[in-house]
Amino acid sequence: MIHNFNAGPSVLPKEVFEQASQAVLNFNNSGLSILEIGHRTPLFEDVMNEARSLVKELMMLDDDHEVLFLHGGATTQFMQVPMNLLNENEVAAYTETGTWAGKAIKEAKLFGHVEIVGSSKHTNYTSMPHELSVPATAAYLHITTNETIAGTQWHQLPYDCGVPIVADMSSDILSRVLDFNKFDLIYAGAQKNMGAAGVNLVVVNKNILGKVNRTIPGILDYRNHIKEGSMLNTPPVFAVYVAMLTLRWLKEQGGVVAIEAINNQKAELIYSALEAIPFINLPVAKEDRSKMNVVFTMDDPAKEAAFLQLCKEQGMYGVKGHRSVGGFRLSLYNALKMESVEAMLQLLQEFAEKNG
Ligand code: PMP
Repeated sequence: MIHNFNAGPSVLPKEVFEQASQAVLNFNNSGLSILEIGHRTPLFEDVMNEARSLVKELMMLDDDHEVLFLHGGATTQFMQVPMNLLNENEVAAYTETGTWAGKAIKEAKLFGHVEIVGSSKHTNYTSMPHELSVPATAAYLHITTNETIAGTQWHQLPYDCGVPIVADMSSDILSRVLDFNKFDLIYAGAQKNMGAAGVNLVVVNKNILGKVNRTIPGILDYRNHIKEGSMLNTPPVFAVYVAMLTLRWLKEQGGVVAIEAINNQKAELIYSALEAIPFINLPVAKEDRSKMNVVFTMDDPAKEAAFLQLCKEQGMYGVKGHRSVGGFRLSLYNALKMESVEAMLQLLQEFAEKNG
């Protein structure tokens, strides 16, 4: 049996793989593949509409918040956000919490001024900042809710910072209940909790748009995508379809409330097992640990090599830590089943007994 702990693209529900495969051969008994139908056909329009309305429902969004499925991954949002929200002479507040926040900051600097209002650089990104001082004049505050490489996550969200909040939720989207309406812009690549690579979700409060004075290329202006119902040009049809199936699956599981309870349980089990092993080091501050990406190292490179080999033999995929931090990373996204967590617990215990 295979257990997939990959950080992204990552595990998806088996039902989604089955339904998506079927749709490639014969979509909704149309005799056509999902890959060969026009995006403006009613067949596909239904997919896009259902995907957008499932996001609205699962995130309990109000009428000011628009749902878009766009190209270019979360990386495109690093520049599309400031292009749409930040004037050249204005300041945007950013939190500096790791690799992904760093990339967002770099791109924002191309469009205006960036002020770092909270940083965990001094802890080598093993914590999240807890005190932010956001200038009241900032165009927005940007946070990365879950740092996929560092294994940190915001647990107390800075809802009351006084300025619009923008969040990169790529690696924890729809994994826990948040007050999503308090965010003015949320973006997330789909390839972790929401589907296949090739599409990203953007949720935007339409009231914050139209305030910059630069000329925005048509394809990068959120207002055009809103006007066209996320069909300004040909959307990544298959990736949108897989996202729709994954959203349907999430709704069937009981939505975000239900999946959060399971995610909490999975993270709790893994962290306590790791804490109990003396030669394992958990670098992240306890209160800032990610429930999606668990990072750890061992006190001896030989043990790490042996555990990696054992994981390989036991069908545990994607457990190696990111090359920039080393060690291990277990990604516990929505679709990772409890049985995969249990299999990992057993393996860890056996390994600890032999090597303790
Ligand atoms: N933000 C975060 C938090 C991520 O984890 C990633 C990808 N792992 C990205 C942004 C970049 O996403 P993409 O590759 O879809 O551009």
